[in-house]
Amino acid sequence: MAWLLALPKFGIVLLLAALLSLLWLLQNNEAEEDRTALIKDVLWLEQNLRFHLSGNEEQLQQLAADMVSLPEQKKIFRLRAAHLLKNNPELSQLLWFDAQRKVVDALPTSTLPDEAIAAFGPPVTDKAFDMASRLGKRVYSEPFFLEGNRAFIELMVPVFDGRELKGMLVAVYPIETLLNNLVPWWFAEKYKVVIVDDNDIQYATKTHIEGSGIQSYEIPLDPPGYGMKLRVTSYKTADNSLQRLLTVAIVILAAGVFWSLWLVRDLMQKRSRAEEALRAEHAFRTSMENSLTVGMRARDLSGCITYVNPAFCKMTGFSSKELVDKSPPMPYWVPEQIDETYAIHQSVLDGNAPPDGFEITFKRKNGERFNALIYEARLIDGNGQHTGWMASVLDITERKRAEELARQQQEQLQFTSRLVTMGEMASTLAHELNQPLAAIASYNAGCLNLLERDGCAPQDIRPALEKISVQAQRAGKIIRRVHDFVRKSEPKRAPCSLGDVIEDCLGFVEPDARKHQIRIECEVPHHLPPIPADRLMLEQVLLNLIRNGMEAMASTPAADRVIRIVTEISAAELRISVSDCGCGITPEVRTKLFTAFFTTKPEGMGVGLSICRSIIEFHRGRLWAEDNPQSPTGTGTIFIFTLPLEDA
Ligand code: ADP
Repeated sequence: MAWLLALPKFGIVLLLAALLSLLWLLQNNEAEEDRTALIKDVLWLEQNLRFHLSGNEEQLQQLAADMVSLPEQKKIFRLRAAHLLKNNPELSQLLWFDAQRKVVDALPTSTLPDEAIAAFGPPVTDKAFDMASRLGKRVYSEPFFLEGNRAFIELMVPVFDGRELKGMLVAVYPIETLLNNLVPWWFAEKYKVVIVDDNDIQYATKTHIEGSGIQSYEIPLDPPGYGMKLRVTSYKTADNSLQRLLTVAIVILAAGVFWSLWLVRDLMQKRSRAEEALRAEHAFRTSMENSLTVGMRARDLSGCITYVNPAFCKMTGFSSKELVDKSPPMPYWVPEQIDETYAIHQSVLDGNAPPDGFEITFKRKNGERFNALIYEARLIDGNGQHTGWMASVLDITERKRAEELARQQQEQLQFTSRLVTMGEMASTLAHELNQPLAAIASYNAGCLNLLERDGCAPQDIRPALEKISVQAQRAGKIIRRVHDFVRKSEPKRAPCSLGDVIEDCLGFVEPDARKHQIRIECEVPHHLPPIPADRLMLEQVLLNLIRNGMEAMASTPAADRVIRIVTEISAAELRISVSDCGCGITPEVRTKLFTAFFTTKPEGMGVGLSICRSIIEFHRGRLWAEDNPQSPTGTGTIFIFTLPLEDA
């Protein structure tokens, strides 16, 4: 990824390098061309100078020859010298000397100018004069300075008559004037022309421009020789500003490209960071989804499935492909409950799903049914728009099975507990039953005696038979009550009178109470409203509490053995309390009082109170124990339970 980012940068650097080297090459080429042009121009100038000088030499040579061969030397000199000076403005003066180095004539003035006098001052001109006379041919003098800084050269042309030196023609060239006249204006516009010698002494300069030169070229100036050189320097022209502009533009453009590239890189980095964060977030969500044991199912507003998680797929046995985009009826709906399921589905879409969730039966792919607990929530998107419904689905089949099992066990326990209670009361019940049976037997014996007597009228036996019937009913009632109590039945709540329940219980416990000298006091208001309850269960609770109270009073003095059953009614509930004056409950026992199988009695089962509490809770009431502050013995317990008057 990094190298991919570096690639365009590398490309830009290469492009920039290529452009700059192209520019450099162009510049080099141009410089090369400039130099060639410079050399050409210098060669031309040197040729031009030489051509002029040698032209002048020829004319002076011709004049020297003519002055010897023709009469009227002075006239010829004047005429020709004037002509020469006129046509060659670079010449400042022409002088005619005799062999003794005396001026015979001179132009432009006949009087000798200071220059000419001076010209014969410097030894250089003497040397040139000597050389010209000795060699017998034209000779240039070395350059010399006069009048301050003005430099001159002189051309000596000897006048020979046969082998005899007759005089000398001297042409005076101020070097400055020479340049001024022989270097054309256009040349001076482009170049700086300087005449120097080997010692870098500068004799004359011509230029029309200011500034620094970029390249120069030198060429020997011969004639006059003596190490004199023509140095030509070229100047920068304005047109390379375009090139500079181009370079600057290239650099600015490259910088711009770099900058935008940097921005793109920054953007890409930000983007890749965001992608990385998104990937991490996605991975986190996926692993969260996969680890969820709760099924998740999303639906759009029309009820079509938009998403299911792996747990939901596992639960139903259908793959996500088989479920997503499906509209009702769903493949996991139970066919025989399709109408109810559709109604629930519609109420969820209408926004009426119960906030505490609802139970429904679904079908797995293999046809197996399962119970699901579903919580529906609104699906809100990033813009706050309601886009559908998200359901979390719990498979509660196992839980329901366990609950059912626990319920059955509880029921079994209740039943067992009732049997145990009956077992415990068996002897007193047998005694109770014995009384009517004994009465029946004695009434029966009386009847038989009466029948054996003569003259026994049927009406004599009638009262006895009626009493037998009463006693038989009494016995039957006891047996029916016992039968009712131990009968195994499903718990069902129906309106029942608490007074009847208490009365029934008292019927059970009274024989025992009598035996143990326990008084049972009952305080039940008249006209109690019927309460929605399972009568048998309530009897079991009351019987349990009364018997516990009786057992707790085993060591209580007989006079104080009282059980009080008090019923109070309030707006919403009945409050029933069973108090005793027994041994009371210690704090340690109190904490475990309602724990199943907790007992302090050697023969006890310890399930009585735990069953009582679950029965009362089944009736949506509460059961608890308090100390009995009104007990004359100082110890005692009150068990209190409440029952709601209205069935919810
Ligand atoms: P069990 O009667 O078989 O022991 P219970 O669940 O009915 O089982 O009672 C549990 C324990 O609570 C009893 O063993 C006893 O110690 C205590 N207990 C219950 N009722 C009373 C009471 N009225 N006074 C004192 N202790 C009591």
